[in-house]
Amino acid sequence: MKTYALIIAGKTVPTYTHMEVRNPASAGVVGMAPKATVEHLDLAVKAAEDAFETWSKLTSEQRANACRAVAQKIEDNAEELAQLITREQGKPLSGNGSRWEVGGAVVWARHTATLDTPIEVLQDNSDGKIELLRKPLGVVGSITPWNYPVLTAIWHILPAIRTGNTVVIKPSPFTPLSTLRLVELINEVLPPGVVNCIAGEDHLGAAISSHKSIRKIVFTGSCATGQKIMKTAAATMKRLTLEMGGNDAGIVLPDVIPEQIVENLFWGAFLNGGQTCAALKRLYVHESVYDDVCTKLADLAKRVPVGDGLLEENLLGPVQNKRQLDKIVELVEQAKLDGGRILVGGENNRKGPGYFYPITLVADLENGTRLVDEEQFGPVLPIIKYRDVDEAIAMANDNPNGLGGSVWSRDLQKAAEVASRLECGSVWINKHGAIQPNVPFGGTKTSGYGVEFSTEGLNEFTDIQVIFS
Ligand code: NAD
Repeated sequence: MKTYALIIAGKTVPTYTHMEVRNPASAGVVGMAPKATVEHLDLAVKAAEDAFETWSKLTSEQRANACRAVAQKIEDNAEELAQLITREQGKPLSGNGSRWEVGGAVVWARHTATLDTPIEVLQDNSDGKIELLRKPLGVVGSITPWNYPVLTAIWHILPAIRTGNTVVIKPSPFTPLSTLRLVELINEVLPPGVVNCIAGEDHLGAAISSHKSIRKIVFTGSCATGQKIMKTAAATMKRLTLEMGGNDAGIVLPDVIPEQIVENLFWGAFLNGGQTCAALKRLYVHESVYDDVCTKLADLAKRVPVGDGLLEENLLGPVQNKRQLDKIVELVEQAKLDGGRILVGGENNRKGPGYFYPITLVADLENGTRLVDEEQFGPVLPIIKYRDVDEAIAMANDNPNGLGGSVWSRDLQKAAEVASRLECGSVWINKHGAIQPNVPFGGTKTSGYGVEFSTEGLNEFTDIQVIFS
């Protein structure tokens, strides 16, 4: 079993203490992650500050080439990274699992290389010239969750370095190993100190968000943690991009043909076992097609192979950790008491180790029950019957989250009209959760602050300066 080290200033830095990282499919130890102290954090920030001096002065083309080199490095080591993600995160190698995640990291890195923040001339006339510059901020602190450890790291690191910043990243204590290896690989193609990785527990995240020499926090994780970061970052007025929890609603209109939508509905909800920020987490179905949608979803759910992600035949794996599994069990048990009808799953009958929970569909719930109102972040979908579309839109919007949403209909114009009334950052029609590197992504209400991806996301890693001449 391997003992990992921190990556600071291009070197591996061992620590005195470590954390066990467990495979959620077997509960076996995958590796020992280093446990960084606040002194390690200071060293990493200093390395990033030193590297910033040179990195921020490179030309845009030099940094674009560096992003391409990062993409190539990931591609060359894709299978190793995918295996490590599966062993520590649990998602299968196959399907939309860890190989897909690493492939996404390559695509995002390459696309970020093509983005730029050129000087804009706002005015050039007899009154003078005014130019708008976008300048790098300095050291960016990145804090990531456990559901997509490598892809989220790339979403944070690449726009930061593309625009001339340097980075200190702290992965989740549940899945630090693939990020440590990723940053080690990145350091083979970037100058030392541009990207540093310190692993540790939650309090290390708090130390990052209050660190006086860090200029920006890019965070992906729960709403509760995002709110804490906003508070601690206030003292130093850090720039913030916060991608937080979602409780995405899908509205199925009466005109659908259930067999045409059921596959997209299912994977919209159960991608990565529901442990996806913008997964479909509440499904509102018109009464005229309700029974049919429920039956067809349940039929599909019974056919999807769930098991150890290292076995190629599996398309879904375990829940990533015990804390999350306990929450899912609690929500489903409460849903039963609230009158929910279990269509499939609902009992954890599996023998043996690991944090498995069966794919679970719970019908006949309403707003005001915990499984509908709270983010489950697991392989469970509540289904709610509605009579009229205005009522469904009101129920969908009756939630503090506002990450994504979806509308399902054969009438694209009607669907677009419903979509525009949903209070969320992205709405998909006849699918759910699709994201692209050229399209901004972010949450409204308590789901987020700022956006990622595209030039809009890139700009968040810069400060504006205007020069009047
Ligand atoms: P979490 O908030 O518990 O942890 C995320 C990260 O924050 C970890 O690295 C953790 O160590 C760190 N952290 C914990 N306390 C901190 C503090 N006080 N200050 C600074 N950092 C701290 O979230 P999680 O359980 O790892 O991830 C699941 C959540 O993430 C879900 O709510 C999910 O919806 C959300 N998520 C959102 C998106 C998005 O893009 N909107 C994407 C993926 C996950």
